[in-house]
Amino acid sequence: MLILGLETSCDETGVALYDTSRGLLAHALFSQVDIHVEYGGVVPELASRDHIRKALPLLEEVLTKAGCTAADIEGVAYTAGPGLVGALMVGATLARALAWGWGVPALGVHHMEGHLLAPMLEEERPDFPFVALLVSGGHTQLVRVDGIGQYRLLGESLDDAAGEAFDKAAKMLGLPYPGGPHIARLAESGDPERFNFPRPMVNRPGLDFSFSGLKTYTLNTVTDCKANGELSEQDKCDIARAFEEAVVATLVIKCRRALKQEGLKTLVMAGGVSANRNLRASLERALSKEKAKVFYPAPEFCTDNGAMIAYAGAQRLAAGQRDGEASAVRPRWPMAELPPLSAGLATGVSA
Ligand code: AMP
Ligand code: ZN
Repeated sequence: MLILGLETSCDETGVALYDTSRGLLAHALFSQVDIHVEYGGVVPELASRDHIRKALPLLEEVLTKAGCTAADIEGVAYTAGPGLVGALMVGATLARALAWGWGVPALGVHHMEGHLLAPMLEEERPDFPFVALLVSGGHTQLVRVDGIGQYRLLGESLDDAAGEAFDKAAKMLGLPYPGGPHIARLAESGDPERFNFPRPMVNRPGLDFSFSGLKTYTLNTVTDCKANGELSEQDKCDIARAFEEAVVATLVIKCRRALKQEGLKTLVMAGGVSANRNLRASLERALSKEKAKVFYPAPEFCTDNGAMIAYAGAQRLAAGQRDGEASAVRPRWPMAELPPLSAGLATGVSA
């Protein structure tokens, strides 16, 4: 079954074609980072307008790349939430109009389910059950996954998401949005001994996270360093290093705790922050000692993309799920409300 996937929940327009027997045929992405950079964050109205401009040219591009025509498409999956309401509505309206015009089913997909299943686009895929760490600009969650749509929330951030904390720390250091990759780059030249930032909530039981105290600690450190004038490049690198170490250590501790609690040996990590190389290496090191394994998507499928939506939608469409006539976008949408999927995975080999 050939499925078109459309992602427009935030500031990336992603379009992809996934075939349940042949795998991912093509994908294309336009990132709006340059549009929002001067505002230091995503401007929802600008995001919506740009999705309108980019979606159809990207659709033409993936059809050409895959050597397909619109007549080959057998279903359309789009991100129905969570996300920015205007941006979601652009994708939903376009997807449902295309599906109606082509006479094929449409289905609204949960954005975080897309992230969670993105590692399934790789050749080496995790088996259910597993623990998933979802770390993006809007979410930090640990979820037990027993199958598609069988999700149990184990813990989540009580305040900022990990990606949001990276973005705010970057802003304090005068770095552009989104700050995660900039912090990661500076951290590579940072002295790990100069500062020791707190590891939030690791001494408390449970699997919740909190990053607001770390944010305040970072701001206080920046203020102290500025007492002697502007921040030097080395100050920035050292603060970035200490901040990254604290986030990574916290995430690693909670992942190990979640695996132990659930008696599982497989961890799946997804979302923009999962592109962080220090986090990947630290998790691999920590889990290999316990004979546990971590899976994550290719870097291009860590941040928002159409391929993960096409994949998640393909699983559900192939199992017969479809939008009703009155379907609406859901800017807030708990993942636990998703219906389970009893059939096996409809997964092809990626081209
Ligand atoms: P998403 O919300 O899944 O699209 O992910 C975007 C978030 O991931 C933003 O907050 C970025 O700052 C963050 N991010 C992207 N790459 C990295 C990285 N290498 N290290 C840390 N955070 C990152
Ligand atoms: Zn995302």
